Amino acid sequence: MGTGENSPFIPPYKGEKVHFRATIPSCYNRFMVMENLTAGAEKLGLRLSGNQLALFQIYYEELTDWNQRMNLTSIIEYDKVQINHFLDSLTVILAWQPSANRPNPRVIDIGTGAGVPGIPLKIVFPQIRLALMDSTGKKITFLNHLKQKLVLNDIEVINGRAEELAHQIYRESFDLVLARGLAPMPTLAELTIPFCKIAGKVVAHKKGDIAEEMNQAKRAISTMGGKLIELKPVELTEFPDNRVLVVIEKVAPTPDQYPRGSGLPVKRPITG
Ligand code: SAH
Repeated sequence: MGTGENSPFIPPYKGEKVHFRATIPSCYNRFMVMENLTAGAEKLGLRLSGNQLALFQIYYEELTDWNQRMNLTSIIEYDKVQINHFLDSLTVILAWQPSANRPNPRVIDIGTGAGVPGIPLKIVFPQIRLALMDSTGKKITFLNHLKQKLVLNDIEVINGRAEELAHQIYRESFDLVLARGLAPMPTLAELTIPFCKIAGKVVAHKKGDIAEEMNQAKRAISTMGGKLIELKPVELTEFPDNRVLVVIEKVAPTPDQYPRGSGLPVKRPITG
């Protein structure tokens, strides 16, 4: 059996961890095994399998390849993608994890862009039923391509604006609603909470000092039927910039008139 780049089998070199080599396609540089992600994930209590690392590797390759033709992300260095996209996405587990009594929870990522945080979470928890939503068509094209490459089941890619889609079949249908980089909290609350089931959660990635932003969002959160339950700090040395997960529980139905249409959640956010 050969040992060339295209060989289906590469014998281990001295000291190599064999379980990685067995699952990462041989065309990948065998020294590139998502080491930063592996180390960071362990701090979250996650031991990523060889298959999961292979999926993250494929995700990285596709993201950087497509990024040459369309603007998907400004972060493209191998080390930085592992931390700022993949590991950052996985910090959601500090606030939410699938439970045994609900084995296939429905999760939606609103304004998912290139698929974060939804796709990394799906790689770690393949049992979730994931919806990825974005208003930008070219991002949807990438996500459909990525979905095929990763061969993961139960991923729905949805092109449209949250303001409109929240009045359709997606309303109050999800156990977990994710949003990273979508909008300031008052707007984010109006765009996300309507998708959440009663007793479900919204988990939003934020960073820096968000005290004033949270203060401004109180009325929007309660108007949408949400209740702030936690600001969960992300205390990993990988993130020295005060990252925090805003955790909201859905405690009452969202009144029918929300979210408002025509860009109003952005233009005239509910504040105070
Ligand atoms: N979640 C990704 C992308 C953040 S950029 C990340 O963390 O990297 C914000 C994304 O939200 C963009 O892709 C934009 O197209 C999308 N977006 C903004 N407003 C939206 C809306 N009202 N409905 C759906 N998607 C929206």
